[in-house]
Amino acid sequence: MKLHEYQSKRIFAKYGVPIPKGEVAVSPTQAREIAQLLGGPVVVKSQVLVGGRGKAGGIKLAKSPEEAENYAEQILGMDIKGLTVETVLIDQAADIRKEIYLGIVIDRAVGKPVFIASSEGGVEIEEVAKTNPEAIIRQAVDPLLGLVDYQARNLAFELGLRGKAIVAFVRIAQGLYKAFINSDASLAEINPLVVQGDGSLLAVDGKMVLDDNALFRHPDLAEMRDLQEEDESERIARLADLSFVKLDGEIGCMVNGAGLAMATMDIVKHYGSEPANFLDIGGGAKAEKVATALRIILADPKVKAILFNIFGGITRCDEVAKGILEALNEVPTDIPMVARLVGTNYEEGRAILDAANFPSAQSLGEAAQKAVALAKGETI
Ligand code: GDP
Ligand code: MN
Repeated sequence: MKLHEYQSKRIFAKYGVPIPKGEVAVSPTQAREIAQLLGGPVVVKSQVLVGGRGKAGGIKLAKSPEEAENYAEQILGMDIKGLTVETVLIDQAADIRKEIYLGIVIDRAVGKPVFIASSEGGVEIEEVAKTNPEAIIRQAVDPLLGLVDYQARNLAFELGLRGKAIVAFVRIAQGLYKAFINSDASLAEINPLVVQGDGSLLAVDGKMVLDDNALFRHPDLAEMRDLQEEDESERIARLADLSFVKLDGEIGCMVNGAGLAMATMDIVKHYGSEPANFLDIGGGAKAEKVATALRIILADPKVKAILFNIFGGITRCDEVAKGILEALNEVPTDIPMVARLVGTNYEEGRAILDAANFPSAQSLGEAAQKAVALAKGETI
């Protein structure tokens, strides 16, 4: 789950990271009032869950409350990379002398959180990685020790900071690290972290991505979800407790178990097609859940065939077969389908499908080939 800039910065501030004074507005009038209260120049910043808002015209520097109102008028309702701006953040303008990038991600290869920093901040870090990879500094953190003082100081030195900026940077890096760990984030990023004219540091932009699987521990953070900007099918799947990731292919995959879902996607590719989704319907797979999953898959106009791949362990294949047929009653469709059931009661399961003229297959290879053929409009 992605957080908006203003939400991320508020979390950072709780951990001692200095952020500009500011408030969000949903109307131009409100934007003017906030600018008035803040006094002096402000920045009007679109709150949408994509990067590069600056380049897209979604960030404007306003010298007066009237100017802030005008910019808010322009920016609210604006389309930025397919997202409509509903909210703007009005922040006191910073006196920017230098822009630094500072972020934390999990590095799966080393199994640790890793700080990524660059003195080439402001622009997207992927861009720096491409054009100027030497400008990127990394520092892995031992999760048991946290970010140790000397590691934070090393980062500050390598970024070219000197004097009291080093002390300020150490506090910010450690605060960002705590925000990252305590929120179960997969990304926490300040871009840019700016050095101001008076030598102080300020987090001007913020971004956090939270681990959906840990959100149950953070009801306060879960509430921050912006429903409008979440993919419709992924939202329905989340509410139905299905693990679903939309992809670009044409074979809809309905599978019980994450590993099996991965294997199913691999074999679909192996036989020359592309999966339309990753979907783990979990154990049990009652008709209602299968029906919801079916609706989600069918909502994707690219889907040309659906492959059911079910392994019956505790789940019984005859129950699943009944679930599939019941779901089809609820969600009628012309999209061709094939099922491969294996495990507990699979013979009974196949008999149920056969009786209903529902195509099935013995092996996963056979099922995948049939699904690929069906997607091409061939008969099986
Ligand atoms: P992004 O484009 O979505 O990453 O949005 P940012 O919040 O990072 O803003 C983009 C750029 O706008 C920054 O890198 C700064 O150069 C500039 N900017 C943002 N806030 C201020 C500010 O308070 N004062 C000034 N002068 N520039 C700002
Ligand atoms: Mn930025």
